[in-house]
Amino acid sequence: MQEELRKLPAVDRLLQQPEMAQVLAAYGHTLTVTALRETLDEAREAILGGRPCPAAEALIAAARARLTSLTRPTLRPVINATGVIIHTNLGRAPLSRAARQAMVEAGTGYSNLEYDLAAGQRGSRYVHAEELLCRLTGAEAALVVNNNAGAVLLALTALARGREVIISRGQLIEIGGGFRIPEVMAQSGARLVEVGSTNRTHRRDFAAAIGPATALLLAAHRSNFQVLGFSEDVTLDELVALGRQHSLPVVNDLGSGTLLDTSAFGLAAEPTVQQSVAAGAALTTFSGDKLLGGPQAGLIVGQKPLVERLRRHPLTRALRVDKTTLAGLQATLLHYLRGEAVAEIPIWQMIAAPLDGLRARSEAWAAQLQAMGIPASTQAAHSTVGGGSLPGQTLPTVVVALEPASPDALAARLRAQEPPVIGRIEANRLLLDPRTVLPEEDAALLAAVRHAWGKAE
Ligand SMILES: *Cc1c(COP(=O)(O)O)cnc(C)c1O
Repeated sequence: MQEELRKLPAVDRLLQQPEMAQVLAAYGHTLTVTALRETLDEAREAILGGRPCPAAEALIAAARARLTSLTRPTLRPVINATGVIIHTNLGRAPLSRAARQAMVEAGTGYSNLEYDLAAGQRGSRYVHAEELLCRLTGAEAALVVNNNAGAVLLALTALARGREVIISRGQLIEIGGGFRIPEVMAQSGARLVEVGSTNRTHRRDFAAAIGPATALLLAAHRSNFQVLGFSEDVTLDELVALGRQHSLPVVNDLGSGTLLDTSAFGLAAEPTVQQSVAAGAALTTFSGDKLLGGPQAGLIVGQKPLVERLRRHPLTRALRVDKTTLAGLQATLLHYLRGEAVAEIPIWQMIAAPLDGLRARSEAWAAQLQAMGIPASTQAAHSTVGGGSLPGQTLPTVVVALEPASPDALAARLRAQEPPVIGRIEANRLLLDPRTVLPEEDAALLAAVRHAWGKAE
């Protein structure tokens, strides 16, 4: 063993090998030395475990593999073949071409992010999306922060810290990823006053809870679950009327916050932002990357004095939105202004995708897979909108079905492809839904299935 250990070359000797010149050029001296050291440490462990000393070529190959994996970004594109349109685990909304381009431009050079070009002096980053948001939603004022969880936290902190916020027990929601209304409330320093019961809350429950310490009435959209059967909740109109009687603002956390009427697409009607504003919610908060179809952001629209209070609050600085986000958001909002949202925004294209087109695409995929010797068929299935919106609602689709001996093993091999492909398993079949696969991804998807199926050359 000692003899084998003595055979292990020094880092310097490996660095002088001719094939290392290329490696050094690609990865630089520091990282290359680190990779060689780690490779040698691993070899030393193996030798102490009774293994022979590897040859220099094997050590260099191992160091190269280490460098490749060290420098590969962990955040990578994947193909979403799950049929879940706003897939939180897969990055929510893919962006329109215009939004992507705007983000690249904002990131490429300087911009008037906080510079008033007309006055030649300091301006505010918050003006960029405000006018568009007001025009599209009918609100007096708007503010954009990092995400909707931040928007709710900011609204509660700025308006209700040290005071009481009344909410229906049926709306103490939890969204995935650790967003829970009671916990956000605790963070904001506001006191939660829950009224009613899980399934039934009445206007009189709210009325009885209003007192001198009440700061606001909160409504939270049940984005990701349904309450069926013997249930009742106070409507936004009722809440606003009650709030007016007591001079209390109503804050409405919409979550997915759509600007388009989802019922036009064969789905249940999700409350729109415009409806919330028109109903008189003092503030409405929603996400930029759910049904809006833009980059991650938290959007706040509503009454000017309240939005101003939020804007001036120190927490706003901590929740500040990035210039590339503002650029992407503005481009996304412009699609709505021009009336081209369904044509240009990927999530709306996916929601609106006609069944005939989906069937044709699935049949074309199946035919190509069959031509490769892979037994693929098509079948009717359902896509979902996802992303904490429209719970229980589905869209009819046609998927490609694969029936390998082990669907789990095939799914794992598909995830190991470049780019990884994520499908879903149902009744022992691996299903690939064309609804969420971008048109330019077809070839990569088929290549991934071919390799994963074991028909690679
Ligand atoms: C999704 C959601 C949130 C959190 O929004 P993020 O953009 O994920 O921070 C908050 N409230 C509701 C009702 C939601 O649906």
